[in-house]
Amino acid sequence: MTLEERLIKADKLLSEIEHTYNLRWWNYATLGTSLETADLNEEKRKIYFDDSLFEALKEESRKEGNYEAKSRKAKLYLHQFYINRVELDNNLLKLKNEIIEDELSSVSTIAGKEYSIKDLIAITQNSLDSYMHNEARKRLEELNERKEEKFIEIIRLRNESSRKLGFKSYIDIYFYGLEPNICECIDFVKKTIIYYAEEAEEWENWLKSSTNSDEVDKALRKIQEELRVYYNVLTPEETFINILKVWGLEKLLTRIHIFTYKDSPNKKHWWTFCQPINIPDDIRISINELNPVEFVETFYHELGHAIHCASIEKNEWIFKKEDLFTEIPVSFMANICSKDEWIEMFLKIKDTSIKEKIKRVSISRDPVAILSRCLDFLLIVKLYEEEKNPNKIFGNLYKRIFGYRKQGCSSSKKWNFEILFAEEPFYGLFHLIGEIVGEKILDFLLKNYGNIFCKNVGEIIQNKLFSPGNSVSWTERVNSISPTMWEFHPN
Ligand SMILES: [Zn+2]
Repeated sequence: MTLEERLIKADKLLSEIEHTYNLRWWNYATLGTSLETADLNEEKRKIYFDDSLFEALKEESRKEGNYEAKSRKAKLYLHQFYINRVELDNNLLKLKNEIIEDELSSVSTIAGKEYSIKDLIAITQNSLDSYMHNEARKRLEELNERKEEKFIEIIRLRNESSRKLGFKSYIDIYFYGLEPNICECIDFVKKTIIYYAEEAEEWENWLKSSTNSDEVDKALRKIQEELRVYYNVLTPEETFINILKVWGLEKLLTRIHIFTYKDSPNKKHWWTFCQPINIPDDIRISINELNPVEFVETFYHELGHAIHCASIEKNEWIFKKEDLFTEIPVSFMANICSKDEWIEMFLKIKDTSIKEKIKRVSISRDPVAILSRCLDFLLIVKLYEEEKNPNKIFGNLYKRIFGYRKQGCSSSKKWNFEILFAEEPFYGLFHLIGEIVGEKILDFLLKNYGNIFCKNVGEIIQNKLFSPGNSVSWTERVNSISPTMWEFHPN
């Protein structure tokens, strides 16, 4: 069998495995069924531990002057082989399972009442009661501390497997073949810190003075609550249908299905997310309630994923499977909610001071959140480089990034363990780049077409960004809109 024929066979099997996994994951997140993956991992092992296929791919990706698309395909597969050879390690799988089990079974008591992790997270995000808010945060930190050693062990295991595969560390495997590469990403993050540190200080002062409050988190929730009244007039699903129509993309509607937690018999939806079951035909969005400002932006972000997945016109699994830079074109959907056109059209607001307030509390423009993502990313890079206890590294980075806060690093600001737990340790980085570059794309389109809600814009995002799938790299796709788009510097 030729390499091409072997890849066609592998592609079909991987596509089936992914479909089964997607359905199971959907049921787990919406119905609370168990997420069994042992059988799927066995199936994956048959492909990813096939040494002769692995060697053939390595040879193919080394060939000079190869037809570009062919060598891209070999490299994408090779990346999957490397990542899966690390992630399918039995010790690593066991450790990750223990963490999940611990999360699902843990119950914390506040004032005599029991709360799950999901409840605690909801309280820290939405509660205006400062006692409850602080207690919930403390409980989450205690739960995290319990997992600290396990997280360090995950890093160690990933690095160990990566070295066996000939790489310096797991980071080199993760970024293998990705564009932009790890050095460009570090550069982007460093420039972002310089720009946003100033903005964050000004923003925090504005929040405190406009609410007469000393606490930034509290001030932000207070303003979001104030704005609730404007969002109450909104049916987000309807606004989305309207936008797809003006973009000429209404045919995608038959492929995108929106479910609310009310549809679920036992109300188990944990969060708002988009889950492609089968690309491009069956794309689902689960909605859970948040405060309205946050909800609309999160919902639009997930809609961005949905439009993207429903637009991919490729048959091969390897090209339908995007890398996480997909957050770039997707984030611009969330950024739409803080543009004048959207606010005027859907929230019916003309008052400039209210428009300004909406823009200032937008979650995708929150400068402190942006700095936190920078911190998380530099921390992860250091942790994978040094495999050390994170607390000291975190303290130094915190001082460097949030140095403008005179009170320094308070005890409530510890490193975020969740960043390592995720299957995707660089999830935060891709969102950060997505939010900044996504905003640049949006501003470019606005400037060139005068209005974001027109057919031209729909055509551009569809043809240039979404439909090629992973057959074209994200740097190329973004550059095809404008070559200045991919400068590693915020606006
Ligand atoms: Zn996303």
